[in-house]
Amino acid sequence: MLETFVIDKLNIELVQGDITELKVDAIVNAANPYLRHMGGVARAIVRKGGDEIQRESDEYVRRHGPVPVGGIAVTGAGRLKAKYVIHAVGPKYGDPAGDVKLASAIRNALNKADELGLSSIALPAISTGVYGYPYERCAEIMVEIIKKEVRNMRNLKRIVVCLYDNEAYNKFIKVFRGKIIQ
Ligand code: ADP
Repeated sequence: MLETFVIDKLNIELVQGDITELKVDAIVNAANPYLRHMGGVARAIVRKGGDEIQRESDEYVRRHGPVPVGGIAVTGAGRLKAKYVIHAVGPKYGDPAGDVKLASAIRNALNKADELGLSSIALPAISTGVYGYPYERCAEIMVEIIKKEVRNMRNLKRIVVCLYDNEAYNKFIKVFRGKIIQ
């Protein structure tokens, strides 16, 4: 399943599937502050991309300390088709400042990809797994940030939002259709 929205010549694609299969310049990981990629999408990324992603992540935390919630860290992507993994740390649902931090994680990931000169990026539904965010809430925050940031993008041409299951895909599609007037 795939649906494309266009804002300012930038393509926003919603797809259902496994983010590790996508051919994009950067894949965003839904990470935790210690970049311990033990479950969910993080585990899938390391399993397919290789242990070097975990080793680089460990090295990052050793040097810079844990990544703040709402922040990001960049590593290589090992054997994945992507060039980079952008590890974005989302909030846990129930954090009083959670929405602001989720917006910040998404904004930082998009800006970093653009700064790196990349033309395509794929994002999962950050914080909607173990961290408990409802899909609709994540979708609303993501679409608002994408709409705002699109104007500032110099290199990014394609943003793929990758939803793992049917329920997530259907809920995201509904929100994006409602918020992006084509
Ligand atoms: P968080 O801790 O931020 O909630 P999770 O990895 O637990 O992160 O879940 C984030 C989202 O990623 C969930 O919606 C989950 O269904 C989804 N997900 C899990 N595996 C994959 C995958 N291989 N590709 C894309 N999305 C995935």
